[in-house]
This record gives sequence, C-alpha cells and structure tokens, in this order.
Amino acid sequence: MTLAARHGALTDIGLHRATNEDAFVVRPSLYAVCDGMGGANAGEVASALAVETLAAGVARGEPIAAAAQAANAAVYRHAQDDPEQTGMGTTLTAFVLEDGTARFVHIGDSRAYLLRDGELRQLSDDHSLVGEMVRDGRLSADEAALHPHRSILSRALGTEPQARIDEFTEDLLPGDVVLLCSDGLSGPVPDDVIRVALTRSDPQAAAERLVAEARRAGGPDNITAVVVRVDEAPHGAEDEEATLVRPPDPATDIVVDGPSVAGGEPGDAADMLAAEAATLLPEEPGASPATPVAAGEARRRRSLRRLGVVAALLAALAAALAAGVVLLSTVFFIAVEEDGRLAIFSGLPAEVGPVPLHAVYRRSVVAYDSLSPAARTLVDQRRLRGRQDALGVSEQLGMWP
Ligand code: MG
Repeated sequence: MTLAARHGALTDIGLHRATNEDAFVVRPSLYAVCDGMGGANAGEVASALAVETLAAGVARGEPIAAAAQAANAAVYRHAQDDPEQTGMGTTLTAFVLEDGTARFVHIGDSRAYLLRDGELRQLSDDHSLVGEMVRDGRLSADEAALHPHRSILSRALGTEPQARIDEFTEDLLPGDVVLLCSDGLSGPVPDDVIRVALTRSDPQAAAERLVAEARRAGGPDNITAVVVRVDEAPHGAEDEEATLVRPPDPATDIVVDGPSVAGGEPGDAADMLAAEAATLLPEEPGASPATPVAAGEARRRRSLRRLGVVAALLAALAAALAAGVVLLSTVFFIAVEEDGRLAIFSGLPAEVGPVPLHAVYRRSVVAYDSLSPAARTLVDQRRLRGRQDALGVSEQLGMWP
C-alpha cells in the first residue's frame, strides 16, 4: 500500500512580538519547523539559515540527520563570524517521509505530535530546562506548561560546533496526522484542543484552526503549525507543490494577503495571519513560480515592554527572557563563588527552586576582596554578556594573573 501525504502550514507573529522568528518548510517529503532565538534579528537569521540549509541538503539527497548537522554548522559559523549575533540559535523539528516511514530530527522545544485513532501523542522530548525537570519527575506536565522559565532551552541548533540532535522514526498508517509546531502553539493551546483541531480532514484548515486557538489564548509568542496527513494513495496521485516558508526577505520574497482563518473571531480574520510568511521559488526544474501560501495583512500590535523591575538581577533576567528564548550555554556573567573567588558563569544569575540556571565556565584564583571598589561594582552588576565580552571584562578585572 502506498501512502500519500497532504499538508497545511501557517506561521503567525502572535500578539506580543515585534517580529516573527519562526520559519517552516513544506517541501514534500520534507517538513520542518524552526523557532529562532537571539537578540537583534539574530533569531530570524538563525531560523531562516537553518531551514534553507536543511532543505538544500535534503534536496541534494543527504540523509536528514546529515542535513541537520549541516544546518547546525551554518548557523554556528554565522554566529562566530558576527559578534553582534552571539547567542543566536534555533530549534529544529523536522522529518522526511520515505515509504510511509517518517524520519525525524529534533533539537530544542518545538514539538512533533502524532494523532492516531483519535489519540494525540507527543513524539519529541522538549530540550528545555523544565522539560528535563518533567522527565526527572521534579515537575508535572501541567506545572511545566505554566512555568515562568519554560522558554529556557538546554539544547539548540547553532550554538555548539556539533549539535546533539535527537533522531527517531515513526511508521505511519493511513489516517495518521503529524503536527510540527513551535512553542507559541504548544505552550498556550491545551493538548485536547490540539487533538480536536487535528481531526479535521483538511490539513490547512487544521493549521489555521491551531493558529487561531493560540491567538485566542493570548498569542504570547510566534506561532507556527505544519500539519501533515497521510492516507492511502489514490492512483495517479501527484506530489503537492513544494513550498519553503520563512520570515520575509524583501529582496526575494513575496508577501501577500493570505486566506482567512477558519474559526477566527469575527473581524479578526485578517489579523490572524502574519505578514511574516512568504514563499520562495520551488527548486524543481520547470516548477511554476512561487505561490504565496500563508501571509497576511500586517496589523502589528505594540509590543508590551515590561521593564520596571527594581533589582538589577531581575532586570537582567527579564530582559533576557523578554528577548525570547535564552540558551544557558550562550550567556555569561561574572560573579563570586562561595569561597570568595571570582568566576565566569554561563547561564543566568538565578535559580528555579533548588536548580541554579548557571554553571561555572571558568574559575579564577583572584578574590573579590582584592578588587578596587570600581571593579567590585562591575562584578556586583552580574550583567549578562556574550562569551567574548565576559572574557574581555575578566581580563580587565585581572582575573587571570
Ligand atoms: Mg517560540
């Protein structure tokens, strides 16, 4: 028996972000979602670079795992070449469909779900701090869904020379539906609502419904859904048109109005769709020019800035979290160890209950007490820095005599 896949996909800026840093690929038989992170436009750059590199590798016939490592290398190199983009990275959850077998790669906290016989199952593990606490039994899934630090990742693409990417396969059956989504969907939308949305037979209607539900739940983050439904192939079925979608590049992308969203609030339909999605030209020879699949009228909401925290520590943490996802291994600060000596720490100067959000990156023999008052101020700030910046300040403090 041959299986045929139909897909639907949509990305949306959400209600509280100034940009859409998510990106997705639907280029049968490759499907992927990326959720970028980092200051400035680094998140958009990371997710776009990752989907492009992944799609190019798979199109050349590389196994998806190799193409994902190539995507990691591309993002990592880009971050190394541009000190402004220290800390850039992205999640990646993707699969290729080969003869009914879905071969997945996954890193970060975007998710893959399978709906089979009316039951929804999460296929991917969240590579996040709270995800690991759930797996250790220290936190329930319900507590994790509301945890203030749920966006802190333990792994991401592009932050290390070699990424630890999960690989797994799933043999699909007729009627199965796979959902790939960013945390802007899986965070605010309960599993049961996801399950019901995926039972729609039209995958595009399912994707639109899911985005509408995430917006109805407050749309705190960028929202992306890729829905793939497999059924028995009718004779003579042709592949669907390939589409690669990412945040727009004015030089090459086309941004147009998208379809209205099924199930949206009256009058809110145009707002449901982000201007951040556009198509690229299909790469197959002789393929028709790009057809926009998802885009929308940009009615950007003002981003809500919530600074006003008194303590410097909380301000630093809030700023880091407001910028999106913070990866512990890519931010650094200088502080004092229990024995009074200085050290560079990687992560955030805070704890979640008993769990510190940081680890010692490099230990100094120099004591805090030996510093001048001005130098102590620099340490007391516990400011978050990129690796190079932290090393530069540590030199300035004379931490490596
Ligand atoms: Mg996100």
